[in-house]
Amino acid sequence: MRLLVIEDEERLAASLRRGLAAVGYTVDVAHDGVTGLHLAREHPYAAILLDLMLPGLNGYQVCSRLRAERIEVPVMMLTAKNGEYDEAEGLDTGADDYLAKPFSYVVLEARLRALLRRGGSRARPAVLACGDLWLDPARRACGRGESAIALTPKEFAVLQTLMQRMDEVVPKLDILDEVWSADFTGDPNIVQVYISAVRRKVDLPFGTATIETVRGGGYRVSGYAGGYARG
Ligand code: CA
Repeated sequence: MRLLVIEDEERLAASLRRGLAAVGYTVDVAHDGVTGLHLAREHPYAAILLDLMLPGLNGYQVCSRLRAERIEVPVMMLTAKNGEYDEAEGLDTGADDYLAKPFSYVVLEARLRALLRRGGSRARPAVLACGDLWLDPARRACGRGESAIALTPKEFAVLQTLMQRMDEVVPKLDILDEVWSADFTGDPNIVQVYISAVRRKVDLPFGTATIETVRGGGYRVSGYAGGYARG
């Protein structure tokens, strides 16, 4: 599996290359944004580890250019900055995950594996549909019928997690792992907050009830929700 590391700190880049090669990845390294973008266009990488502060083009610019060109390779943003604002910014430019420096190899590898698992379905992304509600992971677009619905990256990920497991009760902790990563240490009730936000956008204005709360279980999007029989 071939990865691209775009990182201008040469010692860190070399140590990432060694560490990831030791667990079986083939790793290409670029030390600036322009070279990194060029490599990412030329090769079908399984994932890209992308530093934020880079000479040439910075990480946000590299990522948004890739997405503008419909290159949907999974991107993990590496940065010394920390905080929800930066994370939101990184995800808004199309990064799939975000890891603050300094990080441990154990955490990096676990997050990378999760990213590659999700990337597998991303490589052939199907448009998910439930009645007239649709979600297009490749374009990061959502809507109901002809109406487009604007979701934040995390709202999108929450709805995608439910729609990928249609008719299943998805436990709250599964959503937390999928959307906030397994080492999230904040309040798990954040899932409820996001479920409410998604409902206000995809259900409330349309008089539908797509996302069902299953008492003591989690949440379910049913293929027959909203009275639209499929098939
Ligand atoms: Ca840097």
